[in-house]
Amino acid sequence: MNIIEISQKFPTEFDAIKHFEKYRWGKTIICPFCNSKKISKRTKDNRWHCLSCNRTFSVTTKTQIHNTRLTLQKWLFAFGLISDAKKGISAKQLERNLGIHYETAWKMYHQIRDLMSIENEKIHLDHIVELDTKIVDEDMRKCQAEKKGTPTHIPELDDQKEYYTKKGFEFKEGKYKKPCKVGNQKRGEGASNKKIAGAVARDGDVIAHVVKNTSFKELRKIIDKYVNKDRKKTVLLTDEARSNLKFKEIINHIVINHKKMYSYRGLNTNTIESFWAIIERQIVGQHHHVDIKYLDKYVNEAVFKFNNRKHDDMFKSLIKLAMVDKN
Ligand SMILES: [Zn+2]
Repeated sequence: MNIIEISQKFPTEFDAIKHFEKYRWGKTIICPFCNSKKISKRTKDNRWHCLSCNRTFSVTTKTQIHNTRLTLQKWLFAFGLISDAKKGISAKQLERNLGIHYETAWKMYHQIRDLMSIENEKIHLDHIVELDTKIVDEDMRKCQAEKKGTPTHIPELDDQKEYYTKKGFEFKEGKYKKPCKVGNQKRGEGASNKKIAGAVARDGDVIAHVVKNTSFKELRKIIDKYVNKDRKKTVLLTDEARSNLKFKEIINHIVINHKKMYSYRGLNTNTIESFWAIIERQIVGQHHHVDIKYLDKYVNEAVFKFNNRKHDDMFKSLIKLAMVDKN
């Protein structure tokens, strides 16, 4: 929903509150303190009074946006602006568009990224899954494409491809995408970097997190948490990094040696590489200088947008997520 539609649909704060109430409770309002349905409306404000426990509450009480000082109309505008912008927007733009202080806009945006992570945690990967890691530097430069030729015949990979194809995995060859390497980075003092690990199901969802290191122990957490428990239903594709080699002990695994090639007859990690390209575009293109302390939050936004890329209900999802109970 764009800004004009939002301002037409929710011309007053009351309309915005009603909308959030619909998402939180449907037709029956329930006290968030004692779950009673004996509720009466207070006329002087938009709060409710519970006749059972005698407390009052609003639609945001005990939700993810509990205690917000911003109007719910502003939240709706922020949801609209952010879900409309593929690459994300800057906190500065949010400040201007909502007419709020920069610091408030910055905090609000991070809070919205936290909402996105609630949905991200529910994803589940299976079938053909690609796993990879990426280093993000504070002073990230534009990505430089590198190309390597693909050898015409690699018997070992032919055998593996045939073996898994017989088991029902279909490796579509698709268009060859040039992978991205980041160059010209500042090294030495002051240069800091963080590592992200990510996994994606072909034609499916992605998950990515900032990781302490790229050891097998750290990377397998992603597989253990997000991949179908029935491991036979999944084949994992990775590059030849040493920490990846142990995956064959826990899951069907094909290694693509990137020193030799990036793609071989549909065996590649192109999908996760294209997700890294999105991360790069967001960081280079939008947030010119990302404080990598908050990298995990930027990653949350990229994951959420990637997983919702095919449907147009990000705005609705954000309202639903805002109304999730806060423990
Ligand atoms: Zn109550």
